[in-house]
Amino acid sequence: EVTCRYVNGIGAVAGGAVLVSFIDVTPMEQAGQMRRDFVANVSHELRTPLTAIMGFIETLRGPARNDPAAQDRFLGIMEQEAGRMNRLVGDLLSLNRVESEERVRPRGAVDLSGQIASTLNSLRPLAAEAGVELYFTGPETPVIVPGDEDQIRQVLTNLIENAIKYGGSGGEVRVTLSEAERDPAVRGPAARIQVSDKGAGIDAVHLPRLTERFYRADNHRSRQKGGTGLGLAIVKHIVTRHRGRMRVESTLGSGTTFTVILPK
Ligand code: ADP
Repeated sequence: EVTCRYVNGIGAVAGGAVLVSFIDVTPMEQAGQMRRDFVANVSHELRTPLTAIMGFIETLRGPARNDPAAQDRFLGIMEQEAGRMNRLVGDLLSLNRVESEERVRPRGAVDLSGQIASTLNSLRPLAAEAGVELYFTGPETPVIVPGDEDQIRQVLTNLIENAIKYGGSGGEVRVTLSEAERDPAVRGPAARIQVSDKGAGIDAVHLPRLTERFYRADNHRSRQKGGTGLGLAIVKHIVTRHRGRMRVESTLGSGTTFTVILPK
C-alpha cells in the first residue's frame, strides 16, 4: 500500500500508480464563480434530456404516427431520458441536504460492517448484470463510527456503484474495512473503508478534479452509464462533514482504489 500523501496535488508513485487526497481549500472569491458555474451546469444537464424528450414527442406526433415499432423504441429512449432527469434531481437534492447547515442531525452510531454488507447485497443485481463478483473483507467484530446512517450508506453506494459501473471490466470489486489506529489523515482511532476495482483505471490528469460537481473522467462513458457527475461530490461532502478524509489511487490498466477514513 502507498503511504505518501498528496495534498491538492498529484504525484507519481511506484508502479505508475497515482494517489490524490481531497482536501477543501476553496478561497472565498472563487465561491461566487463556482455557484454561477453550478447553475449553468445544472441547466445544461437538465436541458439535454429535456430537448431529447421534446424532439421525440414531435416525432411521435408526426413521422412515427403510424409506426408502432418506432413508437416503442422512441418511448424507450424517452423513458431513459426521463430517468436521467429524475436521478439528477435526486442527486441535486442529496447534495443540497448534505450541504445545508440546518440539517446537522444528532449523531448516531453507524455499524460500518452491517452497512457495507447490506449495500453489497442491494447492489448484487447490478453487479450480476455487469458480470462483476463482489467481495467484502472486514474484522469479525463490528466497526462502529459516529455518524448519519443514511449518509454513510450513500457514500458506500456511490463508491461501490462506480466501481461496478466504471471498473467492472476487471470482473471484481473488493470492499475492505479495517481499523486505522494511526492513519495520518485523521487524529485518533479511525475506520478505513477501501473500495477497489481492477478496471481500466483513471488517468492521472483527472484525479484531482473527480470530486468536482459534474466532473467526469470519461464524459461519453458516464452518460452512457446514466451517471449524473454528482456522485463523488456528494461522497466528499459527506465524508468531510463526518470529519473524515477521502483519497483515490489509480493505475491505468489495472484499477482504482477509493479510500475513506472516518474517525471513530
Ligand atoms: P458519475 O455520475 O458520472 O458516475 P461521479 O461523481 O460518481 O459521477 O464520478 C465522476 C467520474 O469519475 C465518473 O464519471 C467516472 O469517469 C470516474 N470514476 C468514478 N469511479 C471510477 C472507477 N471506479 N473507475 C474508473 N472511473 C471512475
